[in-house]
Amino acid sequence: MSIYEEFGVRSIINVSGTSTRVGGAIMPDAVMDAMVRASKESVSMTELQAAASRAIVKVTGAEAGYVTAGASAGLTQGTAAILAGLDPGKMERLPDTTGMKNEFIIAREHRNGYDHAVRLAGAKLIEVGMNEMVAGAGVRRTEAWEFEAAITENTAGITYTATADSQPPLEQVIAIAKKHNLPVLVDGAGQVPPTANLKRFIEMGADLVAFSGGKAIRGPQSSGILCGKRDLIMSVALQHLDMDEFFHIWEPPEDFIDKDRIVGIPRHGIGRGFKVAKEEVIGLLMGLRMFVDGSYEPDYAERRKHIEYIVDGVSGLPVEPTVIAPKEGAPSLHLKLDTAAIGKSAFDVSLELKRGNPAVFVQEEGLPDDKLIILSLNLNQERTEALTQRLREVLKKKG
Ligand SMILES: *Cc1c(COP(=O)(O)O)cnc(C)c1O
Repeated sequence: MSIYEEFGVRSIINVSGTSTRVGGAIMPDAVMDAMVRASKESVSMTELQAAASRAIVKVTGAEAGYVTAGASAGLTQGTAAILAGLDPGKMERLPDTTGMKNEFIIAREHRNGYDHAVRLAGAKLIEVGMNEMVAGAGVRRTEAWEFEAAITENTAGITYTATADSQPPLEQVIAIAKKHNLPVLVDGAGQVPPTANLKRFIEMGADLVAFSGGKAIRGPQSSGILCGKRDLIMSVALQHLDMDEFFHIWEPPEDFIDKDRIVGIPRHGIGRGFKVAKEEVIGLLMGLRMFVDGSYEPDYAERRKHIEYIVDGVSGLPVEPTVIAPKEGAPSLHLKLDTAAIGKSAFDVSLELKRGNPAVFVQEEGLPDDKLIILSLNLNQERTEALTQRLREVLKKKG
């Protein structure tokens, strides 16, 4: 029996991808094994995060790194680090930023549900640019000069949501930030693969970059990476670790926290609620190691076979399949529905799949365009067969 069934809930076939609402990526056995081993011993969390920092430095090229409770937590903790620096007094006041520089500039078109994470630390967002293209009222996206025009004495930093199509280009935003000595915090949560992006934003000069650990890296769902400038990561650590220590006998690894730079140990900081367990740190590190050393390649090859199996299975049905196979990462399948022939909208089909047995959750992004998008990362042979069977039942010609 499924462990989920044992606790009274059905398990689902998640071809929606790595979204949090469907449990993220299924972790590889090697990640789970590492976590089980980690669970059987104790460790100093400060020393563990210092070791994690060194591992993250190797794969990102950043000065330092930290394992966070997801990218969203990374954004909050990164913002808190920018706001408070190494000042324990300020750390204690957050999220109250009265009298502190607290403005973060963001392009209006970059705003999304995760900017809540930035506001959570006490930052105030200052929007620049317009959303003219979406409004059908213009041809231009946000431009770099608009960031510069919004800088005031209250500006604490700039926050930037990276996608393959982000505007203005990150390099231009960083150039303006550097000119005004302002840090840039990048949300790169879902931007890997390609693996090269682990280094790319840092190489461009971003001060902090947040990635999800539970997406393609396939670490724990509740893990993430924050990497960047050493002082900022030090501030992140000071506002996250359990700080109930005596200064005199507190010996954090020097390459991670330079004790001489702070006047005293802050109390538990704003990051304290974003706890990361030792097992999760190890799971993230193992996932990251496998992600960068090519260990996932055979899985991607296998997923391509699963996608081919589905394509074969839906032949003859009123759907038009398109396989999307990226250079790096798991492939996906787009099924364009002939909704007239099927007699149902893509939304109805999606709902029927969700309510069925086994329940199937597709990626919902394509539904308004009559498309079922099937992301393959969480498939195996058994799930592929069950999914194909359900598609054959649900996508039949009406009549
Ligand atoms: C997934 C995602 C996040 C949140 O990441 P978690 O690791 O789940 O906290 C933040 N921003 C963007 C753009 C994302 O895609």
